[in-house]
Amino acid sequence: MHEVRGRPARWSEEALQSLNSRFRGRPPEELLAWAAAHVGGPVALTCSFGGAAGMVLLDLVARHKLPITVLFLDTALLFPETYTLAEAAARHYGITIAWHQADLSLAAQTLQHGPALYERDPDRCCAIRKVAPLAEALRPYDAWVSGIRREQTTQRTATELLEWSVKHALLKLSPLATWRERDVWAYISAHAVPYNPLLDQGYPSLGCAPCTRPTSAADPRGGRWSGFAKTECGLHV
Ligand code: SF4
Repeated sequence: MHEVRGRPARWSEEALQSLNSRFRGRPPEELLAWAAAHVGGPVALTCSFGGAAGMVLLDLVARHKLPITVLFLDTALLFPETYTLAEAAARHYGITIAWHQADLSLAAQTLQHGPALYERDPDRCCAIRKVAPLAEALRPYDAWVSGIRREQTTQRTATELLEWSVKHALLKLSPLATWRERDVWAYISAHAVPYNPLLDQGYPSLGCAPCTRPTSAADPRGGRWSGFAKTECGLHV
């Protein structure tokens, strides 16, 4: 049983509202630099090496040499291009990426739950392969930086730059919350940021291979969990 941390008084709703006002409209590197200097404990960035926004944040962290650890959740079901990018990015930026995997191997999951759990119960599969490993990976950190953006899904429309995550008992930062798709690609282009080649091949949103289909740019997350009402893996809800 792990001890659940309480919410520090300095991250009260009033304090976060004030910080959100301060960083609204400011470049994301200012929020990242503030977090690295002022959170008062270790800060982690999760990067899926699928979406382009995560690559923007990785570039900012590396470019500004910020003491922020990069975490990669390896579900063991990602596209080969995703693994290749994670390794190439580590070399490109000269950083160490902390890989995290589920406690249950795919073989053990098949034994316990049957084959291709993602085809029958994707919520359970995500809970095992994404949600539980993320909770474990974030445990040592006081703040979590993620690349989610308001325009991505209806559940993300209220995303703030800084929020208190009750689920993980830490400060959650979404420095690109208000960025549009075009802002992300403008940054990638201006700074020659490496990104997943599948994003140019009809996959505007990338997750695990069995749960991602090509789709149109007009409905970027329409290729995720097609056939299910599911639109979120559970990491950000
Ligand atoms: S995205 Fe699909 S394969 Fe990946 S963890 Fe979720 S259900 Fe399983």
